[in-house]
Amino acid sequence: MDLPHVAALECTLCGATYDPAQVVYTCEEHDGVRGILEVTYDYDEVLERFDAELDGDIRSQWKYRAFLPVTPDAEVVTLAEGGTPLLDAPRLGAELGVDAWIKDDARNPSGVLKDRASSVSVTKAREAGREVVTCASTGNAAASLASYAARAGLACRLFVPGDAPEGKLAQPLVYGADVLAVEGTYDEAYDLSMEVTDRFGWYNRNAAVNPFQVEGKRTVGHELAEQCRVQGVGGDGSASGTGGDVPDWVAVAMGDGCTVAGAWKGFHEFAELDFVDDVPRFLGVQAEGASAIHDAFHGHQNADAVAEAVAEEAAATVADSIAVGRPRNTVKACRALEESGGTSVVVSDEEILAAESLLGRTEGVYAEPAGAAPVAGVQAAREAGIVDRGDSVVVIVTGHGLKDTESALAAGGEVDPIAADIGEVIDRYGGGHGTDRDP
Ligand SMILES: *Cc1c(COP(=O)(O)O)cnc(C)c1O
Ligand SMILES: [Zn+2]
Repeated sequence: MDLPHVAALECTLCGATYDPAQVVYTCEEHDGVRGILEVTYDYDEVLERFDAELDGDIRSQWKYRAFLPVTPDAEVVTLAEGGTPLLDAPRLGAELGVDAWIKDDARNPSGVLKDRASSVSVTKAREAGREVVTCASTGNAAASLASYAARAGLACRLFVPGDAPEGKLAQPLVYGADVLAVEGTYDEAYDLSMEVTDRFGWYNRNAAVNPFQVEGKRTVGHELAEQCRVQGVGGDGSASGTGGDVPDWVAVAMGDGCTVAGAWKGFHEFAELDFVDDVPRFLGVQAEGASAIHDAFHGHQNADAVAEAVAEEAAATVADSIAVGRPRNTVKACRALEESGGTSVVVSDEEILAAESLLGRTEGVYAEPAGAAPVAGVQAAREAGIVDRGDSVVVIVTGHGLKDTESALAAGGEVDPIAADIGEVIDRYGGGHGTDRDP
């Protein structure tokens, strides 16, 4: 496997480097999965292969193929993921007191941002000649991986916590995966999947330990940088591409922390390459019942200490996609918040459900709870004086509302049963205005 543009896999704890051509998950110098690896690039090589114009025309994330860790002649496994719209959100903005924008990543093929990573992962699994892919997941990564495995003709065996929402289990079943519901939490399902990976040699997509996972998620940062520039977010509104158009904030939910780390890495890369002339601050949002990254960031605790401290505490939040008690990417996530000059906040389940409904009724965007959590986060950050009135804020909606109908009903209220009788409608809305009809 020849990756001329990838410099190395570098341990985030000790700096040891590994050959990117090997299937290595974590640094051998540390116990378990603590030594998360970072992919580093040779940007001269990358730029040699990247000639795409930053014109806002993004049909899929593979516009940025030169930045992705696949061989130059790899046959990509794709369902046209990425290329999601950046929507202006004036009604939401008016409610939040900010200049709001929505990066709608719920529009990805399986309904989540994770499709960006799955596409890269399954491409790499096939490159490596693996026939079985696996992961542990709170639901979305499982469905996402299963869809790309089906696309590639690979077998897929998934470990999910027994209490994952039904809709999220139905989806991978339809994609033909084996879905193993583990009696226990996500964290327990995760440990089992790691054991299985060691024993059977299946290709593990697990976001935190697979160094290539974050790399796919970078493209949301690349796209945002390109779209913010072309659409004039945070700048003077001109589409002249003269730069300076970078939002004040990007808000994103954090579970394991790979999404925030990937989005930051992508945006930051484009700033380093002078494609845009600044970077936004990142606002990481967690749920009260699953706040380990937030706690680590604000306590300035050592990531290992946090991992120990919360290991016994099961995560509990309505936002199941970020119900992670022991995040595996705390180091990368905290680094993203720190380097961007950003911070994190926590929000309650009540606030998350209210945000789901706010997002739906103000802008017509249907998010699952984790996808709406950043909206609640912006609200909390406004109240705390972190985000100022009028700041430009991009909210990344990471997952689709159709995935979790139960939460949506809790957020949206009740249906109203009525008799099939005009009188009932008149009772509710008054007498009406005559007999005009559409022709
Ligand atoms: C996985 C997921 C997240 C969190 O991503 P991490 O990389 O685990 O931090 C947020 N929202 C949705 C919808 C997800 O599926
Ligand atoms: Zn190390």
